[in-house]
Amino acid sequence: MEYEPVIGIEIHARINSKTKLFCRCSNIIFNEKPNSHVCGICMGHPGMLPATNQEAVKKGIKAALALGCEIKEFSKFDRKSYFYPDLPKGYQISQYDKPISENGKIVITLSDGSAKTIGITRLHLEDDAGKLTHTAGGTLVDFNRSGTPLMEIVSEPDMRSVEEASLYARQIQKIVRYVDASDADMEKGQMRFDINVSLRPKGQKEFGVRSETKNLNSFRSLEKALEYEIKRQTEILEGGGEVVQETRGWDDNKEVTISQRGKEGAADYRYFPEPDIPPLVVTKEMIEELKKEIPELHDAKADRYQSELDLPANHAHQLSGNAPLAAYFEEALKVSGEPKKTANWILSELMGRLNESQMSIVKCQLSPENLGKLVRLIEDGVISGKIAKDIFPEVYEGNLDPEKVVEEKGLKVMSDTGELGKICQEVIDRNPNIVADFKGGKEKAIGGLVGQVMGATKGAGNPKIVNEILRKQLSEL
Ligand code: ADP
Ligand code: MG
Ligand code: ZN
Repeated sequence: MEYEPVIGIEIHARINSKTKLFCRCSNIIFNEKPNSHVCGICMGHPGMLPATNQEAVKKGIKAALALGCEIKEFSKFDRKSYFYPDLPKGYQISQYDKPISENGKIVITLSDGSAKTIGITRLHLEDDAGKLTHTAGGTLVDFNRSGTPLMEIVSEPDMRSVEEASLYARQIQKIVRYVDASDADMEKGQMRFDINVSLRPKGQKEFGVRSETKNLNSFRSLEKALEYEIKRQTEILEGGGEVVQETRGWDDNKEVTISQRGKEGAADYRYFPEPDIPPLVVTKEMIEELKKEIPELHDAKADRYQSELDLPANHAHQLSGNAPLAAYFEEALKVSGEPKKTANWILSELMGRLNESQMSIVKCQLSPENLGKLVRLIEDGVISGKIAKDIFPEVYEGNLDPEKVVEEKGLKVMSDTGELGKICQEVIDRNPNIVADFKGGKEKAIGGLVGQVMGATKGAGNPKIVNEILRKQLSEL
């Protein structure tokens, strides 16, 4: 029998607010000294009063809007109880029956070019637990992560292959980054996945029994774990067995999923409304304000860059895939007025420089205006592409105005036919052999003459004009 996988994904993404969800401790915790960003609230001391962080809520709403979710004007927080050494409160503060948003959807583009819509069940807010490190001497606990804000994004069971699941997860990462709700950097633990997988005979409507594999922290492990689970369940079903509903873990070294425990139901968590935090009320006006802050998203941008600006697809996607990079391009384009060359300069020269020093576009010292001016100078024929490349390092380093650099260094292209004419004549006089070749029908021989003229002008000659002058002079011989 042929089986079809059914996949649903729960994604936890850390909101990039300055402070934690219910206290004022710093939310910037990567590589910080253990237990250096903690207080009575996030350590779960009795009698402490949490207060909801407005910035984190707003960022969560922006992400939900970008995922096409309905924002609920009334939502509340609930206690989800469980005991674990990294959870000093004895419960997580989450949202159970009244999440802040529901019913979204996103579109992914499959490798065959077709589009598929994946439903989003909900996006809700919750706080994170601390972190345990197991050592030979015992287990260490770091509470810096405790109380940091998460958004949990739950998909509908709409995916039918590893490819779809992987594209979905990548799309979510792009979207939450685009609206600046999360940095979603998996190496820093800012985004992780739980995958729910079941199989059903092809053609059957009802879903099969699923397993849930928790805490995958890279796209690679997401894909590997899905492949493993699909294979494991296929073998069970083909052997006449039954898949049990359970929670599994992922062993990144052995690349296998491992049974951890039977599946908990809501009853196991004894959910009840958080008594210390008032319900979350979001006004219509606030939702409208936040809607205005949602930028044009990457896929729409990529389409527009191709249709309106005539960029090739790969450049359109490279630029639009990263919000600050797209913004840089659009600013530079305002000055240069030339989309293709501007895209080229950003993706080759500029990115080359940034990559060398492992710097992101956000920290780029060269302003988009100055890059745009450089492209404009080439476009107007004031300097050649070669001269532009020559001066680029210093323009970049000092964020210099390329117009001034060209002026001060006297680098303007020589288009003056009188002066260029003299140089061309000299080159012709010095190279009777090349001239003879050209006259004898070797079209390409003229390249040798152009090269020498360009050399004599130290690259400042306008190659097009040099070519024209040479042809004219040769025809008069
Ligand atoms: P839980 O309370 O265990 O988190 P949910 O009903 O909220 O359960 O579903 C969690 C995830 O599992 C969702 O992403 C959902 O789409 C997915 N899911 C539910 N049923 C199935 C199934 N039979 N096969 C695969 N995924 C499923
Ligand atoms: Mg779950
Ligand atoms: Zn705190």
